[in-house]
Amino acid sequence: MSEEPREKPTNFIRDIILEHNASGRFGGQVITRFPPEPNGYLHIGHAEAITIDFGMAAEFGGRCHLRFDDTNPAKESQEYVDSIIETVRWLGFDWGKHLYYASDYFEQLYQWAEQLIRAGKAYVDDLTAEQMSEYRGTLTEPGRESPYRHRPVEESLDLFRRMRAGEFEDGAKTLRAKIDMTSGNINLRDPVMYRIRKASHHRTGDAWCIYPMYDWAHGQSDSIEGVTHSICTLEYEDHRPLYDWYLDQLGVHHPQQIEFARLSVSHIITSKRKLLELVQQQVVSGWDDPRMPTLAGLRRRGYTPEAIRDFAERVGAAKAAKVVDIALLEHCLREDLNRRAERRLAVLRPLKLVIENYPEGQVEEMEAVNNPEDPSAGSRKVPFSRVLYIEQDDFRDPAPPKYFRLAPGAEVRLRYAYIVKCTGVERDSAGQVVEVRCTYDPDSRGGDSRGRRVRGTIHWVSSSHSIPAAEVRLYEHLFSAPRPDDADDWKTVLNPQSLEVVRGARLEPTLAGVDRGSRFQFERHGYFCVDARDSTPARLVFNRAVGLRDTWAKIEKASS
Ligand code: ATP
Ligand code: MG
Repeated sequence: MSEEPREKPTNFIRDIILEHNASGRFGGQVITRFPPEPNGYLHIGHAEAITIDFGMAAEFGGRCHLRFDDTNPAKESQEYVDSIIETVRWLGFDWGKHLYYASDYFEQLYQWAEQLIRAGKAYVDDLTAEQMSEYRGTLTEPGRESPYRHRPVEESLDLFRRMRAGEFEDGAKTLRAKIDMTSGNINLRDPVMYRIRKASHHRTGDAWCIYPMYDWAHGQSDSIEGVTHSICTLEYEDHRPLYDWYLDQLGVHHPQQIEFARLSVSHIITSKRKLLELVQQQVVSGWDDPRMPTLAGLRRRGYTPEAIRDFAERVGAAKAAKVVDIALLEHCLREDLNRRAERRLAVLRPLKLVIENYPEGQVEEMEAVNNPEDPSAGSRKVPFSRVLYIEQDDFRDPAPPKYFRLAPGAEVRLRYAYIVKCTGVERDSAGQVVEVRCTYDPDSRGGDSRGRRVRGTIHWVSSSHSIPAAEVRLYEHLFSAPRPDDADDWKTVLNPQSLEVVRGARLEPTLAGVDRGSRFQFERHGYFCVDARDSTPARLVFNRAVGLRDTWAKIEKASS
């Protein structure tokens, strides 16, 4: 199918790269990297960074590395490494052979640290963490020099080697850069380069008991890899002078850091700390709970990589922070699945419908279009018989005003089949409708052959041919507040209705044995994905990825 080419939104990062290429800086090369810390699962915000990092490299014929910034063994794990690798690949990006770990550079970083000590640019400090923050000063007051700042180079070198050898306890000493305690930029007030942490690392095991700070590792890792454009989020803008200082002191390759605003999406939190709390406190079933803003959760919910990339591209890289409406994310998925997902009939809350004048035992195969957006998807046959199920919601007695579905005396079209007229109902002893009776018009099959129109069309499945769904899971936003990050306590803004489990749904028989992860549109209900974790052929479980109502399309229309 042809699609109108969407113009790429302007992007200040592209403009900077174009400038570099014009001036010959980096010789026209574009090497970027995506540098996650393996301390949690990737979320929708990371998708933005990934799309920019890989997208810019691809656009300029360069390459993008996947590098784990694994400098903090206390919070990192192999589980996170594995999930990140799988997720970036699932999004559709390829780093080739350029998979790196900051921990691979620990020895080089250590050697460079010794080099700075020898040059009088770094020293071992004995101040405690509390003392250090007291000495650091504030935004309005300069810091004070540590009494250890001027200890002889040889002494620092000796102490640093003994730190590495494990002679001191956690927190007893640090290595600090000797820059400027009076700098207006607090990051330059003798930042810590190494701390002692006697913890096992998921890759280096017990080889190290001193670990580099992120700020000491990050710029040098970029430099080692020959990164030209080190794209990161805005909170690192104030760290750039420090990264520059380190690289200048070492006299090594100097990437250009470019900062953009973090992506925030309404109704979503992206703080990894808070996401971890949601998992640990079992508010959700895990990192990949379909309500989570993690890419693993969105994937399980039914999101496609294409929809997520489309969303990231439409949001684009911005210099100023803004909150993107979650309706845009949903809109991107709806657009993608509208083109690709086959339609199916599913009755979520069944009510029996008996066609009194339809011959007992007769079965007709009704031709149903698989995807009106995609003729190549063809059609399928859906069995029709005397006893059907329709949605409870599609019958009312009495009918409210403007109700065009089924009600006593009213007519409705059964999708892909006949027009039926309601003749009566059966109720149980409590007065609940348990069965609707009707007659059908044998001449009305398929379309309105006699030019007869009825206002409503409802979907159905045959009672004896349909198959059960063990669970159909319907989701709402995990947080009812549009900006859950603003709440003092996220627990106060949780949406108690974020998950509804519907049991007893009936599906058209072509859904038997569907693969986990496959996606369909259930007509009139939305797009659904076969749950990748819990669904089995004998116990089908579907997640609603997104409903059919497009609030974003309305927002766009109103604003254009
Ligand atoms: P932490 O708080 O643990 O540092 P983080 O969100 O910064 O978490 P990282 O693993 O360090 O997570 O992020 C990897 C990359 O993704 C970084 O370059 C970071 O700037 C970028 N990134 C993280 N969150 C977002 C977001 N919401 N929008 C855009 N980019 C993001
Ligand atoms: Mg980070």
